[in-house]
Amino acid sequence: MRSNHIDSRSCAPRHGRRSTRRGSFITDLSRVSAMPESERERLAEVSDRFAFRASEYYLGLVDWSDPEDPIRALIVPRLEELEDFGRLDASNEACNTVMPGVQHKYPDTALLLCIEACGGYCRYCFRKRLFMRDNHEVSRDLGAGIAYVRDHLEITDVLLTGGDPLLLSTRKLAEVLQALREIPHVRTVRIGTKMLAFDPFRLLDDTELQELLAEQSGPGGRIYLMVHFDHPRELTEPAIEAVDLAIRLGVICANQCPVVAGVNDDPDVLRELFETTSNVGCPQYYVFQGRPTLGNAPFRVPIVRGFELISEAHRGASGLARRARFVMSHESGKLEIVGVDEERIYMRYHRAKDAADENRFVSFARDDEAIWLDDLERLS
Ligand code: SF4
Repeated sequence: MRSNHIDSRSCAPRHGRRSTRRGSFITDLSRVSAMPESERERLAEVSDRFAFRASEYYLGLVDWSDPEDPIRALIVPRLEELEDFGRLDASNEACNTVMPGVQHKYPDTALLLCIEACGGYCRYCFRKRLFMRDNHEVSRDLGAGIAYVRDHLEITDVLLTGGDPLLLSTRKLAEVLQALREIPHVRTVRIGTKMLAFDPFRLLDDTELQELLAEQSGPGGRIYLMVHFDHPRELTEPAIEAVDLAIRLGVICANQCPVVAGVNDDPDVLRELFETTSNVGCPQYYVFQGRPTLGNAPFRVPIVRGFELISEAHRGASGLARRARFVMSHESGKLEIVGVDEERIYMRYHRAKDAADENRFVSFARDDEAIWLDDLERLS
């Protein structure tokens, strides 16, 4: 155990306002009383195909009077999801899956998919396959994944993901973190989570989770919370409190999100997101190009447009809020989109599946409609 113990009472939320307690989730659209019944009936076919789930807290952020409300766009099903578009596993995670729940794409990094649920289901989710019936991609036996990490000395970085690892019980999460800390070659443990947006009370109200994070994150090795805020409106008072609490527990926080049409495809919204996340202590790390996932037609933003949006968002933002990298998580690696001119789109392999591509600079014929690497013609 690490000794960075913090008396959780000293980390108690400073603003005690609570509209909804944690753990209150709705999975049946017919229970969303703020929506007219006719609309709920119209969307039943969509939620039958791609599951719906939201916390009462998160639904409380929706402005139901605005049909284009970005929080609504993120969480509420829409008919356009039924359009024929995309693939379930758009970046072919299957080819990196070495056993149920374990992905090993880059030598130093392993992903442990811990759970097949999230605190809400983002409509644009690139792993929505996990939430479908008859999906068995995630193993309930995390011990096998941990043994895989233990046996592979080249793995120094483990990302707990899913689904959302903060939906595991605190006891289960403690077992996983403690087991990973006992593996000498694991230096970095990251937890990918949107719970601070969907239900910040998961952290604010659970003193055992707070103690666990304080124990596990210290000078000898930090826990990184890779948080996921898509829109500044998600950074509510409780969400900011939760980020602040995580920091005081010794955790390092960074934000990452995709560019999503109808949610944050606006330079002013992105600038405010970058500024706010930077100010509250979870600066933007990556902005992702949205994957062409099944059902994601209404959320697509072309690569060139995404680049323009982020460049414009950076203009006028403070230096610290400009650090976000615009990347595409492609089957061949993680490419940073570094430039666009009249004729070309320029990218650089930030991570590459094939070591020969590491840091390789590549260019493609400019195509303003393209949304994924496979749509582009490579020139160099
Ligand atoms: S939080 Fe991540 S994994 Fe969960 S639904 Fe949203 S995009 Fe998918």
